[in-house]
Parts: sequence; structure tokens; C-alpha cells
Amino acid sequence: MGEGIAANLAGIQNRVSQAAERAGRDPESVQLLVVSKTWPAEKVAEVVDAGHTCFGENKVQEAETKVPALPGNLSWHLIGHLQRNKVRKALPLFNTIHSIDSLKLARYTSNIATELGKKPDVYLQVNLAGEESKNGYAIAELERDLDDLLSLPSLNIVGLMCIPPAAESPEDVRPWFARLRELRDSLQQATGRELPGLSMGMSSDFEVAIEEGSTIVRVGSAIFGARNYA
Ligand SMILES: *Cc1c(COP(=O)(O)O)cnc(C)c1O
Repeated sequence: MGEGIAANLAGIQNRVSQAAERAGRDPESVQLLVVSKTWPAEKVAEVVDAGHTCFGENKVQEAETKVPALPGNLSWHLIGHLQRNKVRKALPLFNTIHSIDSLKLARYTSNIATELGKKPDVYLQVNLAGEESKNGYAIAELERDLDDLLSLPSLNIVGLMCIPPAAESPEDVRPWFARLRELRDSLQQATGRELPGLSMGMSSDFEVAIEEGSTIVRVGSAIFGARNYA
């Protein structure tokens, strides 16, 4: 199994590079975030041993035990919903947050970050399809709040993130990825500020996401195998 994980990682890295090249993009412009949620530190260590340093977790509580059990030179990204009462614990663990979705949460996180001497990179999560079951900014609210978000002193807002509606095939998801890129383009125009990051694409659809401009793909099960939440 150990070799399996390293081989899977190499295979995914290859597919990331090939998708970038197909799209006429520099493969270096796409980052692979290995999503290690539900997997114990020993499993994650196999990916670390294969030379990978960038990992995503969706729960602060799970990261609290996993992060200290692994080498200190790794980069940890929070990809799950951030609850206000977890901000103080999250900031020392994660250097990047993909899930800020309200001005209130952003202000609070910036205040605590200032207090702790941190300045995380932040992706603003957008609920493109307006799904009730999903977190994320509605587009109109994001347009309204963006200037205020960009003025927060201790958040480094780098771009947008989305989790599109579930689909049968990756091609069905393409329009959502395109829409996130277009939203980013229009927000850049409106504010005159750069939002270079697009956090989009998972195991089932990362190649399409890269073709549509993703700068960071979040891939878990294609590397570790199917998760068991039990
Ligand atoms: C779990 C998760 C992923 C990874 O999903 P896979 O299908 O296993 O690649 C990506 N993004 C978010 C926000 C997740 O919660």
C-alpha cells in the first residue's frame, strides 16, 4: 500500500502537469494540495516521504493532532468551513484558509490574526449555484463586501474557491469552473486589485478545473483511496 500512495501521487502530479500543458499553461502555475482529511499521520507521512509538502484538512480538531505529528516544514491549508469558535486554534495550524465566506468571519479572523502575529493567505469561498446545503458567499454579497474584505489588515486575500454542485461527469462541472474564473475577472476589474488564485478541482474533475484556470487543485481520494468516515 505504501508504494501505492507514492505511485498515486506521482500519477496525479503527471496528470496535473499534462492538463496544464494541454491548456497552454505553465505546469508550475498549478499547485497540488493533497487532501489528507480522515487519514492518520502515518499515511500522510508516506506522501511527505515522497517529497510533497502541501496538505489540506477540513477540520481544525483533526489538524490539531495531525499537524504536530508530522514534520514542521509542511504547509497546511484549511479547506473546510471555519467556525468562529475555532479561529484562534486554526490560525497557528494553517497558513492558508480556503473557506472565508462572510465579512463578519473575515473581520473576526483578521482581528485574531493581528493578535497572534499571523497573516494567512485566504481564498473566498463562493456558493456559485446558491445551494442551500453549501457554505460560501453568494455572488451579490461578495461583490458588495469585496472592498471591505481587501482592506482587512491581517488577511492576505489571494483569490476565490468553489465546490461546484455534484455532477455525473467532469464536463458537467466545467461551466461552474468557468464561472468562478469569470467572476474573478469581473471582481478584479471592479476593484483594480489582483485575485490571482482559483482554488477549484478535486479528484474527479481537477483536469477540467486546470483547463479552466485553476491555480490550486484539492485532491484526496485519487491519492489515498476512498475515505472511510466511520
Ligand atoms: C474532501 C475535499 C476535497 C478532496 O476531495 P476528493 O474527491 O477526495 O479529491 C477537496 N475539497 C474539499 C473542500 C474537500 O472537503
